[in-house]
Amino acid sequence: MLRHLMYKIKSTGPITVAEYMKEVLTNPAKGYYVYRDMLGEKGDFITSPEISQIFGELLGIWFISEWMATGKSTAFQLVELGPGRGTLVGDILRVFTQLGSVLKNCDISVHLVEVSQKLSEIQALTLTEEKVPLERNAGSPVYMKGVTKSGIPISWYRDLHDVPKGYSFYLAHEFFDVLPVHKFQKTPQGWREVFVDIDPQVSDKLRFVLAPSATPAEAFIQHDETRDHVEVCPDAGVIIEELSQRIALTGGAALVADYGHDGTKTDTFRGFCDHKLHDVLIAPGTADLTADVDFSYLRRMAQGKVASLGPIKQHTFLKNMGIDVRLKVLLDKSNEPSVRQQLLQGYDMLMNPKKMGERFNFFALLPHQRLQGGRYQRNARQSKPFASVVAGFSELAWQ
Ligand code: SAH
Repeated sequence: MLRHLMYKIKSTGPITVAEYMKEVLTNPAKGYYVYRDMLGEKGDFITSPEISQIFGELLGIWFISEWMATGKSTAFQLVELGPGRGTLVGDILRVFTQLGSVLKNCDISVHLVEVSQKLSEIQALTLTEEKVPLERNAGSPVYMKGVTKSGIPISWYRDLHDVPKGYSFYLAHEFFDVLPVHKFQKTPQGWREVFVDIDPQVSDKLRFVLAPSATPAEAFIQHDETRDHVEVCPDAGVIIEELSQRIALTGGAALVADYGHDGTKTDTFRGFCDHKLHDVLIAPGTADLTADVDFSYLRRMAQGKVASLGPIKQHTFLKNMGIDVRLKVLLDKSNEPSVRQQLLQGYDMLMNPKKMGERFNFFALLPHQRLQGGRYQRNARQSKPFASVVAGFSELAWQ
């Protein structure tokens, strides 16, 4: 990867941080995400669904709660962006099976948006009974397709644009933080973009430099910006716009969970290798690269098209979803000390404000009508106006 980047910079000049991130993470031949399983204790970082089954179960309840609140449509698509090892969607589908009597007349399909060949293979192993072959039809945007263990059709895509535009519930957990960011530094001459260049002093070493003049991505910086260093993520904006358009058109909802801020932080670009911080410019391709999600930007991109809720802290969201009750049920069911200890440790990791409880946030996109308490247009069977209470963002109330 370093040789590839050096060659690129030598031939066309320094590259933006966004281009650097994109190449390092998702280059089809050598990208960090493409050919390895970096998740879990043995990998570089661990995520909430890998820590506790309760996380996915509560998210499953959230989708069912929204489905019920908006008139129990006869069909929906569950769409996940960046599904990792498939653990989260697996836990959600288990809840769907357990609540089969509620969902029995609903036609569900699963759609995964994933660029990683390695992770898509692992997802298929987790979610389906057998190895799923690659699709032969080169013209189709679906690159794998199968049936989940509970008999639900499942398809894989490389891009959200390719997912059918039906009534859908969208999920993005630790997805937006891997999207490429442009970085800017305020200087006496105005905003200057940070680029990655070859260090002239040391061969085989990269360094950051400032662009000598203004660059196009500056258009993404707010006119009244007061920080002296900002990160902007145009790809996140494109995805939020697409989700917003889809939800405004067909209904449904999107749930985004990630670490981030509300337009206040400055330099958050960092690397992780073996659960430790890693210099982003050293040994590119061997460590995860990430930047905090700017939720204020996501909200701006959704404005006018759909309503947004949050960001609220993971601790509050999971509490509102009933994590304490679920933990108690699982503890009561198990006599095995190691299982009980694992459940308690998982709970602490997800909820402790010093661990993931306050670092992670939940953010949702919903059709405007959902919060206005008006009648839901799509479903004539619904006679009552639906509640404006959205589970997780306030205490869960079953209707
Ligand atoms: N949601 C999972 C995994 C998070 S890691 C969890 O919480 O455990 C980020 C995921 O996004 C990986 O599956 C990675 O392969 C995928 N990914 C990264 N960039 C992507 C892109 N541009 N499009 C689609 N998926 C992407």
